[in-house]
Amino acid sequence: MMEYSAMNRQELEQAYREATQHLESCKVQHLNLNMARGKPSKLQLDAVSGMLEMVKTGEDCIDNGIDTRNYGELAGLPIAREYWADVLDCKAENIFVGGASSLNFMFDIISRAYTHGLLHSERPWCKEEVVKFLCPSPGYDRHFRVTEFFGAELITVPMTVTGPNMDVVEELVKDPQVKGIWCVPKFSNPDGFIYSDDTVRRFAELKPAAPDFAIMWDNAYCVHEFSGEYIPFPDILSLCEQAGNPDMVYEFASSSKITFAGGGFSAMAASKANIDYITKLFGVQMISNDKVNQLRHVRYLKNKAHTIELMKIHASFLAPKFQVVFDTLEQQIKPCGFANWYEPVGGYFVSCNTMPGTAKRALELCKQAGVEMTPAGASYPYGVDPQDSNIRIAPSLPPVEELEKAMDVFCTCLKVAALEKLLNQ
Ligand code: PLP
Repeated sequence: MMEYSAMNRQELEQAYREATQHLESCKVQHLNLNMARGKPSKLQLDAVSGMLEMVKTGEDCIDNGIDTRNYGELAGLPIAREYWADVLDCKAENIFVGGASSLNFMFDIISRAYTHGLLHSERPWCKEEVVKFLCPSPGYDRHFRVTEFFGAELITVPMTVTGPNMDVVEELVKDPQVKGIWCVPKFSNPDGFIYSDDTVRRFAELKPAAPDFAIMWDNAYCVHEFSGEYIPFPDILSLCEQAGNPDMVYEFASSSKITFAGGGFSAMAASKANIDYITKLFGVQMISNDKVNQLRHVRYLKNKAHTIELMKIHASFLAPKFQVVFDTLEQQIKPCGFANWYEPVGGYFVSCNTMPGTAKRALELCKQAGVEMTPAGASYPYGVDPQDSNIRIAPSLPPVEELEKAMDVFCTCLKVAALEKLLNQ
C-alpha cells in the first residue's frame, strides 16, 4: 500500500474502486454495530456485581452506628468521604459524596453559579452580561452542553498531548468574563491524554481576572488504566492551595466505570470553604443522598489500592478491544497516510483525526453500513469541528468479534471519504 498523497489519479481511482467494493460487501451483511458511547460491556458489569451482595439485610445497613436507611449525613457517609479522599488523594473534609452521576453534580455546580454565584462571585452568573467558558477540544460533549445550556459562550482551547494549550489558557483568563474551564486531566475524553505535571502546575498557578473562575476538574478516569500499572497523578487541590488559589478548583469523580454506569456513587473534592458553601446550598435541595448505595460501594471497593486491583478485571476485558482498534488502524489506515491517532493506556476512547473535511462523510457512510459512531463534531463546542476531522471511537461495549467487523467498516469508510475528496479536488 502507498500513501494517498503519493498516488496519481489512476492509482487513486483504483484504490477508490477497491474500497467501495469492500464497503458494498459489508453492507449486504446488514450489520448493526455500535461504537458510539463509552459504556462498560455486560461482562464488565457481571464481573463487579458482587457489590450487590454487600448489603442484604436491615442490619447490614448500619455502619458505625449510622443507619444508612435514614436521612442524614448530607455530605456523605463518613466512610464514603474517606474512600474518595483516598482515591483522590485529599482529606475527607474536602469531599462531598453525591448521587449516582458526577455529570449531574457538575451540572448542579454550574447551575448554582448561575442562580446564586460561587463562593467568590460578585453576583450570580445570570446577572453577568456575558459568561465565557473555556472548552479544551476535542473534549467531552456533555461538558460543553452543560455550559451551553445555561447560555455561556463556549471558547475552544486547543488540546495537546500534555493537556490544554496553557499559553492560550493563561491569555484567555485575563478576560474577567471568562468564568471557568472544563478539564479531564487523566485519560482525557476523547484523546486519552494525561496532563503533564507542568500543565497541572500551571493550572494551579493561574491568575484569572474573574474572582470566581472555576476549574471543573473532571477526574472521571482517575483509576482507569487498561494497560500497564496505575499511573500516579498530582493532587490539584493541594497544588491550588500552595499557589494561593485554594477555592479555584472543583474536582469530580464517580464509580460509573468502576461498578455500575449511572448506578454508582460520585464525589466532588474541593476546599473546605467550598464544601461548606456547597453543603449549605445543597441543603435546600435535598436531605441526603442514597447512603445504602454508598455503603454497598465502600464495602465492595474498600480503598484505593483494592479499587486499582479491581480495575485490572475491567482492563482484562478492555485491553483486547483497544488492541483491535489500534491494530486495525495501523494495518488499514497508517499506510495510506491521511489520518493520525494516539494510543492511550487508559480511559474509554480513541480519538482519530482523519483527512480534514471528511469526518462527517465517513460517519454517514458508516451509518449506511450499519455502524453507529459518535456524531462527527461532537467533541467540539456547539457540535461543530471546524476541521471536520475528529472522530471518537468507543470500543468498550461490543464483543471483540463485532468490534473487528465494525473497525473494518470504519476504516473502509475513512478511506472512501478521503478518496472521494481527493478525486473531486
Ligand atoms: N465525565 C467524563 C469525562 C465522561 O467521559 C463521562 C462518561 O462518559 C462522565 C463524566 C459521566 O460520568 P457519570 O456517570 O458519573 O455522570
